[in-house]
Amino acid sequence: MISENPRVRFAPSPTGYLHVGGLRTALYNYLFAKHNNGSFILRIEDTDRNRFVEGAVENLISTLKWIGLDFDEGQGKGGDCGPYMQSERLDIYKKYADELVNKNRAYYCFCSAERLTALREEQQKNKQQGMYDKHCLHLSKEEVQENLAKGLPYVIRLNVEKGKQIVINDVIRGVVEFHSDIIDDQVLLKSDGYPTYHLANVIDDHMMKITHVIRGEEWLSSTPKHILLYEYFGWEKPVFAHLPLLLNPDKSKLSKRQGDVAVEDYKAKGYLKEALLNFVALLGWTAGDDQEFYYLDELVSKFDLNRVNKSGAVFNVEKLNWLNGEHLRKKSQIQLLELLKDHLLTTVYKDNSYSDKYLIEVIESMKERVLFIHEIAEKAPYFFETPSGYDEALLKKRWKPETPSQLNKLLERFEKLENSDKEGFEIALKQTVEEFNTGVGTLIHPVRLAVSGIGNGPGLYDILHIIGKDETIKRIKTALNKISI
Ligand code: GLU
Repeated sequence: MISENPRVRFAPSPTGYLHVGGLRTALYNYLFAKHNNGSFILRIEDTDRNRFVEGAVENLISTLKWIGLDFDEGQGKGGDCGPYMQSERLDIYKKYADELVNKNRAYYCFCSAERLTALREEQQKNKQQGMYDKHCLHLSKEEVQENLAKGLPYVIRLNVEKGKQIVINDVIRGVVEFHSDIIDDQVLLKSDGYPTYHLANVIDDHMMKITHVIRGEEWLSSTPKHILLYEYFGWEKPVFAHLPLLLNPDKSKLSKRQGDVAVEDYKAKGYLKEALLNFVALLGWTAGDDQEFYYLDELVSKFDLNRVNKSGAVFNVEKLNWLNGEHLRKKSQIQLLELLKDHLLTTVYKDNSYSDKYLIEVIESMKERVLFIHEIAEKAPYFFETPSGYDEALLKKRWKPETPSQLNKLLERFEKLENSDKEGFEIALKQTVEEFNTGVGTLIHPVRLAVSGIGNGPGLYDILHIIGKDETIKRIKTALNKISI
């Protein structure tokens, strides 16, 4: 049963960029919230001061904004349960840590780094699991007070009750059990006064009234500690859903080494946000049919947490590229025009001026042949500049000793054309090959080479029509001058 107005959160640690796995977590939370009339909250988990990265929070928020995952409450937006930045909630964590200490569910620990290292080494030697030995649990209240008065550095640890079975009822993974004997007395509050992830995460989920915790599978092993915390505080637990791991095509865990992992990298490479969201939505979820093309609003209406798989999801860039092409082709002419203009501004063609009509014709001739807007200028530079050279292999194959005289005849016919209509070029070319008693291929290939420099692209007459009669004639003449075989 899903509560009336569920509240979910995306709780990233600001490491500098938004990981695609983080995007998937954010998206599933968003879809779940929107599908169920709930709220999607952004909380920043920045309690690890060693990993603090300047500007990371702003970057994260702007990336979420770019991709269109708007949150209802959270950092930068406000709401009733703030602050939403953990580093601004330190007094809250301390208060609750003390509450656990008073209940004997947590305790002060003054052990030195040396003692902890020696303990770990001893346990390793005896092939035991590395665990804190509850040494400081046995300090008397007075001893603790004395140590505190002396200003000794301390941490607060969770007092894990041994001999208990901890059961997680995960929406995606089903029943998962852990035994408390293998759970360490986790540090909850560090000596710098900052909470650990576990303490802050549970307190905040409770105080922010989170009903469903939807997060990556890598957090499953932390969940028993969270369950103990909920029990020790006497709080109601949220529903847990752990999303499957993201894998490289070789089934290893998705890593930087095998490709990009930052959403910003995909943005910089020209991926459309619609395609990226569509792709990420399918990393672990299907509606149960064959549909693969989705817009965000359709994902919202179809998303169901119960249909998320538990087996790892392979991050297949080929599929992402394919989806990018699909989303590109669904865009209107005006949208494509804007995308192409924006792209051209980043290229050597930025100072050239092209009419909208010209660019639209280029787009129409190329859109079935590309997956990205930038591929238009990459695959068909001849729409933006005269060819700087001619494909050698094709030249050898297609440019015969008789080609120049045939092209000269063709030029005579082209000169007489009244406009740049496709048909005019086609008739002129056919008449010329008839005159030489040969097939259309005899001229189609040399003309294509002359105007484009390469052997593939849209239909030849489309190219000629787009670049126009004068440019066509100029390029053929240039080729005749440059090519001597
Ligand atoms: N701060 C954790 C992260 O960086 C959040 C884990 C959770 O959602 O509980 O992913």
